[in-house]
Amino acid sequence: MIERIAELRGQAEAEIAAAGSAEALQELRVRYLGRKAELPQMLRGVARLAPELRGAVGKAANQARQALDALIEQRSSQLGGEELHERLRADRVDVTLPGAPAQPVGRLHLLTTMRRELEDIFLGLGFTVMEGPEIESVHYNFDALNHSPTHPARARTDTFYIARPDLLAPSEPRPGQPPSPLAAEELVLRTHTSPMQVRAMEAHPPPLYVVIPGRVYRPDSDATHTPQFHQIEGLAVDEDITLADLKGTLLMFARAVFGDRRDVRLRPHFFPFTEPSVEVDVSCFHCAGSGFLRDGARCPLCKGEGWLEVLGAGEVDPNVYSHVPTSEANAPGYDPEKVQGFAWGMGVERIAMLKHGVPDLRLYYENDLRFLEQF
Ligand SMILES: [Zn+2]
Repeated sequence: MIERIAELRGQAEAEIAAAGSAEALQELRVRYLGRKAELPQMLRGVARLAPELRGAVGKAANQARQALDALIEQRSSQLGGEELHERLRADRVDVTLPGAPAQPVGRLHLLTTMRRELEDIFLGLGFTVMEGPEIESVHYNFDALNHSPTHPARARTDTFYIARPDLLAPSEPRPGQPPSPLAAEELVLRTHTSPMQVRAMEAHPPPLYVVIPGRVYRPDSDATHTPQFHQIEGLAVDEDITLADLKGTLLMFARAVFGDRRDVRLRPHFFPFTEPSVEVDVSCFHCAGSGFLRDGARCPLCKGEGWLEVLGAGEVDPNVYSHVPTSEANAPGYDPEKVQGFAWGMGVERIAMLKHGVPDLRLYYENDLRFLEQF
């Protein structure tokens, strides 16, 4: 009988060690230690054995049961760890893998990539990027830029005025202090990025080379106008700056955007805050500036002109410097006898329209994926 106990114990130990899962282990527990299993039956039968056998058999059976019990416990916790580990391994999600099926990823809007492309071009030419407020005072938007009091751009049909400037300024002046100048002054949604010319000069002494991208607003809406659009202002102020520097800078820009073989031309124009002022044209990249396609047809992009109007620019009017008070920030200030500068304002939408053949400005804002996914 003792031999049988040893045999059972050996057999059980081997099977427990080989058990591969908690379920298999539970089955073994029932088979060897369950109520109807052989070993417990033997233990219960000890009383019926001859007295000289009882002690030895009982002891062996008890030891075997305890040993198997302990072994099952041990194997059980070991398996628990292994199973958890296995489950974690099998369930692991690699978040770096592409989806299955591959999911479409988003992309930057054409206007964002165009703006960044333009910023990069001017950063490469030594300009820095600044930003400014979209709600602007009439002072910076018009007065400091030489707009006469009767300039048509000031009309309420051409500019969004902020109806309640008192909401945007401290409403109650502190006792003994004058009311905030903002409360008394009209505010507008800036109609161009040019107000930042004076703000940039107030904040930094010359030499100054900045570009200012941003949203601007005008009450217009048709195929070539939207109430909100984007400009990039450029301003360079230094000593001995001439119109040739402006032309060279814009030639670099034109070639970077439209191709190495482009040329630029300046046409006389008028802006209140530049003197002289110019409209800048780039030679047409569609017909290589000839105005005609290879088959003799008139170029549809430049309408046979050979040139595309891209932006307005000019030498900074010396009068604008007089609106820049000398301060600690910009000492020694902007003396029109000492410094000259040039400035331009370009429309991001217009550049992207020309470059990518976009027929209608409103497409940018309709968020039709069929349009946006082409870029
Ligand atoms: Zn053309």
